[in-house]
Parts: sequence; structure tokens; C-alpha cells
Amino acid sequence: MLNITVDVPEINVMINTKIFKCSSCDYECKRKSKLLDHMLVHSDTKLLKCTECTYESNYKSNLKVHTHVKTP
Ligand SMILES: [Zn+2]
Ligand SMILES: [Zn+2]
Repeated sequence: MLNITVDVPEINVMINTKIFKCSSCDYECKRKSKLLDHMLVHSDTKLLKCTECTYESNYKSNLKVHTHVKTP
């Protein structure tokens, strides 16, 4: 008698992995919190502007990194 066992690949794991997609662009991520964070990019409400140039960012951290290095 032949005993055949079929291994089911763990495809389900990949299918069950929820991917959150941004409705305004192609951005994708696996965490909802990350997507919400990203959504700020498409929002004008929290736009932070550099006081020395026209640079704009929705992230405070980005604005912090963006600094004007003044050469002496
Ligand atoms: Zn987006
Ligand atoms: Zn600037």
C-alpha cells in the first residue's frame, strides 16, 4: 500500500499577512501605525516649514535633520 503525504507549503502565512496600502500613493506597509504615520505626507495640516529656506516636511524629525550648515 502506498502512503502518500502531501506537504502543504506555508502559503497561508503570506496570504494572512495584512498589508496596508496608502490610498493616495503606492506606499505599502505591514503596520497600520506606520501607514497612519505615512498618511501625514498627504496631509497639509502638519506641514512643517524651514525658517531659512523653502524646505517643507511633514515630519518633525526630517526638519531636524534638515539643517543649514553654515560655513565660517
Ligand atoms: Zn501615500
Ligand atoms: Zn532649510
